[in-house]
Amino acid sequence: MNKVKLHDRTFRVMIPAAEIDMAIDRVAARINEDYAGRETPLFLGVLNGAFMFMAELMKKMECNCELSFVKLSSYCGTGSTGKVSELIGLKNNIEGRHVIIVEDIVDTGESMEHLLRSLAGHRPASVEIATLFFKPDSFRKDFEVKYKALDIGNEFIVGFGLDYDELGRNLKDIYVIDEE
Ligand code: 5GP
Ligand code: MG
Repeated sequence: MNKVKLHDRTFRVMIPAAEIDMAIDRVAARINEDYAGRETPLFLGVLNGAFMFMAELMKKMECNCELSFVKLSSYCGTGSTGKVSELIGLKNNIEGRHVIIVEDIVDTGESMEHLLRSLAGHRPASVEIATLFFKPDSFRKDFEVKYKALDIGNEFIVGFGLDYDELGRNLKDIYVIDEE
């Protein structure tokens, strides 16, 4: 499928599945190295967008690890609303734990800043961020995003968990709006 129609817009393939897989391999190798010999890390996925990245990343983890999901939604259509809602669904006691946030995409960094602040109140031993996509031209925060699978420009993408008004999450490649 080279082009797909979601709601009112047409999208074309921008990053094929094989390239995404290689990028996740590289991130997984770094995490495996960094967390070898540490206490069991907790991978905390951000729903809904990160579900597919989480699944692929977990298959490549060599250490014992736990997984959980939280929800934090701030996005509507193709532009960030700038408003971030509350953190929902943190069931685990993360005090003293090594937490790795698993996110689909870090854009302005607004959502991650909010999540980092909320998690800090629960006194984890450490918190790092693993994101499938990173938009360096849009990011305007000063916290570190340690694990970035792929850098992209400011284009709006869908697929591999990312949606356009809830459609497109199932696509295995990454798509971008087709201008023509
Ligand atoms: P931030 O708070 O960093 O500006 O935005 C992060 C959230 O916005 C992401 O978790 C994601 O849900 C959404 N987002 C940002 N850029 C894109 C994009 O290109 N495509 C999609 N589908 N969502 C995006
Ligand atoms: Mg998200």
